[in-house]
Amino acid sequence: MPEEDSTLRISKEEKQVLETARAAWEKQVGRKITAGEFVRFLAEHYLKGLKKESKQEKTAAGSHLVPLQEMKPAQPQIVAPGPQVSLVTCVRCGKQIGWRSDLSSEGYCPHCGIYLRLMGK
Ligand SMILES: [Zn+2]
Repeated sequence: MPEEDSTLRISKEEKQVLETARAAWEKQVGRKITAGEFVRFLAEHYLKGLKKESKQEKTAAGSHLVPLQEMKPAQPQIVAPGPQVSLVTCVRCGKQIGWRSDLSSEGYCPHCGIYLRLMGK
């Protein structure tokens, strides 16, 4: 049985990109890493990111609850100043909404029209 060739062949350009990223990693982390280890690090990092993403998608698809953010200074040109205006981020389009939480805890995103319900207080 021929021995399995586990060598990964990459082009010069690809190797250069990898080496640049590896050098940046070594500089940032402050220790040496072999090319093989670095590829594994990248792959694991990528898979972790994938898992996170699919989790977030599930949450967003399952409900349209949006968390109240910390109160930020009101921006007069976008949001009328007042203690009852909360800035929330739309789960679908990611834009910020100045929400009059004293009027309603439910409503539609003015940017994309999705139906939102405030959670928390
Ligand atoms: Zn929206």
